[in-house]
This record gives sequence, structure tokens and C-alpha cells, in this order.
Amino acid sequence: KRNIAVMTSGGDAPGMNANVRAVVRAALFRGCKAFAVYEGYEGLVRGGPEYIREMDWQSVRGWLSEGGTNIGTARCLEFRERKGRLKGAKHLIEAGIDALIVCGGDGSLTGADLFRSEWPSLIKELLETGQITKEKFVKHQHLNICGTVGSIDNDMSSTDSTIGAYSSLARICQAIDYIDATANSHSRAFVVEVMGRHCGWLALMAGIATSADYILIPEKPASSKEWEDQMCEIVSKHRSRGKRKTIVIVAEGAIAADLTPITSKDVLKVLVDRLGLDTRITTLGHVQRGGTAVAFDRILATLQGVEAVKAVLESTPDTPSPMIGIIENKICRRPLVEAVKLTKQVAEAISQKDFKKAIGLRDSEFVE
Ligand code: ADP
Repeated sequence: KRNIAVMTSGGDAPGMNANVRAVVRAALFRGCKAFAVYEGYEGLVRGGPEYIREMDWQSVRGWLSEGGTNIGTARCLEFRERKGRLKGAKHLIEAGIDALIVCGGDGSLTGADLFRSEWPSLIKELLETGQITKEKFVKHQHLNICGTVGSIDNDMSSTDSTIGAYSSLARICQAIDYIDATANSHSRAFVVEVMGRHCGWLALMAGIATSADYILIPEKPASSKEWEDQMCEIVSKHRSRGKRKTIVIVAEGAIAADLTPITSKDVLKVLVDRLGLDTRITTLGHVQRGGTAVAFDRILATLQGVEAVKAVLESTPDTPSPMIGIIENKICRRPLVEAVKLTKQVAEAISQKDFKKAIGLRDSEFVE
């Protein structure tokens, strides 16, 4: 029986609470003790009962649908340094924890993997400096790490969707539906800026789901002449057929062929200068993170939480840390290191405009 802790880290995403709830209850159901590390890695570095709390069945009651993360999240600079991770190791051992399930983005999972690979040298240092006893050193030889991916951006390799992405998408679509009404009334154009960092998934899917006129995403950079001409041609065609509203979606990471950012203001200027449209910008901002989790995220987070506990209980010191994902509708385990590495390689290929390589890398992850 293990003492399993769960933590949320990086940007918050709807469904993180459902994931924590599932981990806590699956752990208790299997006779383990469950803990929550509050405030992400910051809580691990600070330690103590304020940040590392034992959870019971009631602790997570009502969490299934709630947005955000009730155990808090933070960006923690100290954990990026070995000194911070050393403190984290000491605090986990003090609390008697031997497995950590991290729900976060690729940054958080990179940190988790590093923590596990460093674990032997961390505990050795703790023993040598008299911070832990020999008995604790022997008992905590291995730290079990497992990742579940929480991110609204859907930007992680080795999983079809991340926890929170579909909730955020639903919120964006709802907002654009609201904008539609006013755009139609005044025959206006709206440039809607959506989140997603370096990934265009939210922009692209929102564009399909709301029949946007044009979408700008990081994965398809074009010279300013190319995208401006194409957008104007499409919008003019739609207008000539009687469409009274124009919606252009811009991903926050959208870039031109020379890798300079394409901003909402750039798009507005083109719509005004070349087409004479009465144009407004709506930056959706943090509204995209808010609200309850949609059914898909509740299900995904729950299934992944249960699988994460199962993975922890089945792992041996030689098993590589798994990341729990969903591929072709099946919950699956993938080596965490590989998933993080692939995510970084895809981002790098995109930033170098090597789309063939990026697509190849994305496809390769699904080859067993
Ligand atoms: P996300 O998990 O959403 O990608 P971040 O990249 O901000 O968000 O990562 C969240 C936290 O994870 C950071 O504040 C830091 O504490 C930890 N982290 C990220 N990258 C590393 C790393 N390379 N080494 C150690 N810790 C890291």
C-alpha cells in the first residue's frame, strides 16, 4: 500500500479538480493513503501540513464539475533549481509520501521527470547532511511519478486531448455565439483572439465549430501578402453572398512566414483598410479558463485519475514514469520522458517552419 500525493501545476484547466478527486478516491478505494500538495511545486518546496495535506473521501466532495483547481497551482522558480527539488524531496519523505501524481502541462511534467531521475542523489544528500534518517533513506529509495495532462491548449504529444481543452473550446464557442448576434445586427467584423500558446488547436476547432471566415494559427505561417490576400478574398466572397457578419479567429501564438507575431491589430487594420469593414477586436482572455468542466473533461479527468493510481500501484523501480493520455478513445500510458521530448521537438520543428518534420513527429507517436 502506498501513500499517494496529487498536485496540480502550471496553468489551471477545467477538469483538474475532477482529476484530483479521482486520484484521491481511487487511492482510498485501493487501501492507500491520499495526500494533496497545495500550490503546485511551491507547496512541495515549502512543505509542512499547510501545503501537504492528507485527503479523505469527503475532502473532494463536489469537485467533479468545478473549474480551476481547488488545491491551487503556481509557477515555482525554486523547483527549477536542484536546491528547491532537494527541499521538495525532504518534505515528501517527512510526510511519508512515496508516489506523486502531477496534473499539469509539459513544463510541470518535465519538472516531475527530472525530480524522479534525480531522486537517488537527492536522498543521498539528505542522508549525508543528516536531514533524513537511515531508516527513511532505505524506505524511500524510489519515488513513483505519474503525469496526467492538464492544459487548455491541447498542446501535448502522445495524447489526443488534454484535460481542460474541450471545456475551454466550449467557452470560446459560447462567446463567439454571443458576438455573432451583435456582429450580424451591425454588419460588423470581429477579430477574436483566443489562447493556446504555441498551439493552434483551440483557434482551429473554434473556427470549425462557429463557421469563422478565417483562422490564423502558429502551425500555418504565411507571408503577410499571402494571408492578407486570402483573408480579404474569402471575406469579400462571403459578404457578396449576403453574409452580414465576419469572424476572424487569431491564435495568440499566430506567426507570419518570417516568424514575427500576427496580432489582432494587424488583422483589424487589413479588414478596415482593404475592405472598409467596421471592425472590433475581442480578446477573450481568462474567460476561456473559467466555468465548469464539460462532460468530456469530467470523464477524461476521472478515467485518467483512476488509471494514474493503477499505474502507480503496478510500477516497479525499473518502470519508466508514465504519462496517462487518451489515444483513439482509449486511456493509455506512454513514457513521460518520450511525450515531453516529442512535444518539445514538434514545437521546435514548427518554430523552424519544418512542417513536414512536425507532422512526421506527430504521426510517429502513434506508432507502437
Ligand atoms: P505548464 O506545466 O503548464 O507547462 P510551466 O511551464 O510554467 O507550466 O511549469 C510549471 C512549473 O513546473 C514551473 O513553475 C516549475 O516549477 C516547474 N518546471 C517547469 N519546467 C521545469 C524544469 N525544466 N525543471 C524543473 N521544474 C520545472
